[in-house]
Order: sequence, then structure tokens, then C-alpha cells
Amino acid sequence: MERPAIILVDLQNDFVSRTMTVDTAQALVAPLQRLATAARINNIPVIYSIDAHYPQDVEVTRKWGIHAVRGTTGAQVIVELKPDEAKDYIVEKRTYSGFYETCLDSILRSLYKGEGAKTVVIGGLHTHLCIRHTAADAFFRGYRIVIVKDGVEVLTNEDQKHGLQYLESVYGARILTVDDIIWELVR
Ligand code: ZN
Repeated sequence: MERPAIILVDLQNDFVSRTMTVDTAQALVAPLQRLATAARINNIPVIYSIDAHYPQDVEVTRKWGIHAVRGTTGAQVIVELKPDEAKDYIVEKRTYSGFYETCLDSILRSLYKGEGAKTVVIGGLHTHLCIRHTAADAFFRGYRIVIVKDGVEVLTNEDQKHGLQYLESVYGARILTVDDIIWELVR
């Protein structure tokens, strides 16, 4: 896998405890822990893309109601996937895409001694929302996209299935399990 960066999306208290059932959210934790650990050991950058809303954001006022307001406990990354503060990057966003009006792209370009990341490995929540929009913006900017098959979730099986299909057919994303991704990262 050429010059990879891991992007972990919206793994925050409000999403795990409010919009997802505990069961499905918990299913993500172990695979993504393994992925983050393997990445850090191999000096592959880990970037957290997180919602940090202002009370006037459209997503909050018109679409989903109050969630992940910046500075609150609800907006904190879940403790099981706590970032490594010495190594990881945390990029706050105010809508679905991790790229929209954030510094994500400039971080990705600065990696690998300025050569830039080439592949983004995306996991987290939710497959058909923030994962999809982040993948779209990654696609527009020329990144190769890998989606963590056992590391993305959504509320319904139908949205999960359609979400993954869309990512594959429209953005050419490779949908790989954590085990396969780790094998490619370390070889
Ligand atoms: Zn949001």
C-alpha cells in the first residue's frame, strides 16, 4: 500500500452511545484498535477526523439535533480508541466531510517528508454519511481509498450494504478487512 494514512472518523461518545446501538459500536472497537496500534508501530500516520460543532451549525440546527458540540464530553473520542497525543493528528470538522474547510488535506500532503500520503485508509462512523463524504473529497483530490470493512458501521444493514457498494463502485474504494490491511501495511 503506497504511502498510507489512517483516518478514523467520528469515533466520539455522542455517536457511540446515542445514534448507534452499543452492540454495533462495540464491534468496531477491537478491529480499529488493532489497526491503530499496527499503524503507530510502523510509523504510519493516524488521523482522527472528528465532529466539533458550533451550536449554529446546519447539521445541528436543521438535520440531526444537538450532537458532538465542541468542548463537550459527547465530542470526545471514545476512551477505547483514545488518540496517542504524541503521534496522532486530530482534525475537527463541522459537517460530514473530513476535508471540508479543515486542515486535513494539508496534513496529508505534508506526510512522508513532504511527498504526501497517497492512500487513505478510512474507518469509523457512519458508512453512508461521514465516511462516504470524506471518501468523496479524498477521491476528488486524487487519493487512493481503502475502507476498513470490519471497521465501519451504520444503523441499518441496508445502509451498510448500500454504503459499501457505493464507495466501491463510485470512488473505486477497496473494501478490506483489518487483517488484510495490516498485512499490506507491514509487508
Ligand atoms: Zn455532525
